[in-house]
Amino acid sequence: MPLVVKLAAHTTEPARVVAAAAKLCYSAASVNTLYEDLDETKIRAFLKTLLDAGHLSPFEHASFTYAIEGVSRVATHQLVRHRIASYSQRSQRYVTMGESLCVVPPEVEKNPEASRVFRETAARAYDAYEEMISRGVPKEDARFILPHGWETAIVVTMNARELLHFFGLRLCRRAQWEIRAVARRMLALAVETAGELFEKSGPPCVYGPCRELHPCGRPFGSVAEVLGDDS
Ligand SMILES: Cc1cc2nc3c(=O)[nH]c(=O)nc-3n(C[C@H](O)[C@H](O)[C@H](O)COP(=O)(O)OP(=O)(O)OC[C@H]3O[C@@H](n4cnc5c(N)ncnc54)[C@H](O)[C@@H]3O)c2cc1C
Repeated sequence: MPLVVKLAAHTTEPARVVAAAAKLCYSAASVNTLYEDLDETKIRAFLKTLLDAGHLSPFEHASFTYAIEGVSRVATHQLVRHRIASYSQRSQRYVTMGESLCVVPPEVEKNPEASRVFRETAARAYDAYEEMISRGVPKEDARFILPHGWETAIVVTMNARELLHFFGLRLCRRAQWEIRAVARRMLALAVETAGELFEKSGPPCVYGPCRELHPCGRPFGSVAEVLGDDS
């Protein structure tokens, strides 16, 4: 199954909500008039002030819910390390795993012999999984034999501040290819929905010096370049 990332839900008018929170911080505006005169120009001005000052807490008022499938447990294990988020993941205790659902890494795919070994081993693991279930082993125990690359599905909700942090880490060329692919699609959907909030998103090299211990030596020049990169 191919990787699918959908934006399932998001805060209504997310940029306006963030700008209204900023307006409350920086003016004496009453809550009744918070949204008055908050046009595109003012929204952008508030967001710029927040980003320039590193005052990112108002970004927490806008949240984004993504539904992801065709992704491996390798990638979701990395995803769920991000703690300022909510997750719901398909259970391997209650749901019987389907056959041929191991994500094949591109480096394996392009090597015919490695690809054969990979697929045969995954198929044998699945046969063992099925056999154990047929012998009465509970799914929660039979699943131990499945490879780490088995497909899963997950719903994740992050606020815009956490998304900026997540994109900064997971869109770096040093991050692992599959979590990068997930992050790239999440960012594309975020930009499509609330571009103003994600103007300064992506790895640190887009905006300044690299913070990696072992830099890749190929800094990104723009968010558009980050979105177009599938290496
Ligand atoms: C390229 C790369 C390689 C990695 N390699 C490894 C590895 O080898 N081994 C490994 O275990 N992990 C590894 N990780 C995962 C990494 O250590 C983090 O667990 C993961 O990126 C989550 O990020 P985070 O902790 O910054 O932030 P999140 O959980 O997304 O939280 C956001 C921010 O909130 C704050 N915060 C959250 N919780 C706390 C807390 N309890 N106390 C204080 N502040 C908090 C921090 O400022 C944090 O940066 C790697 C990540 C990347 C991107």
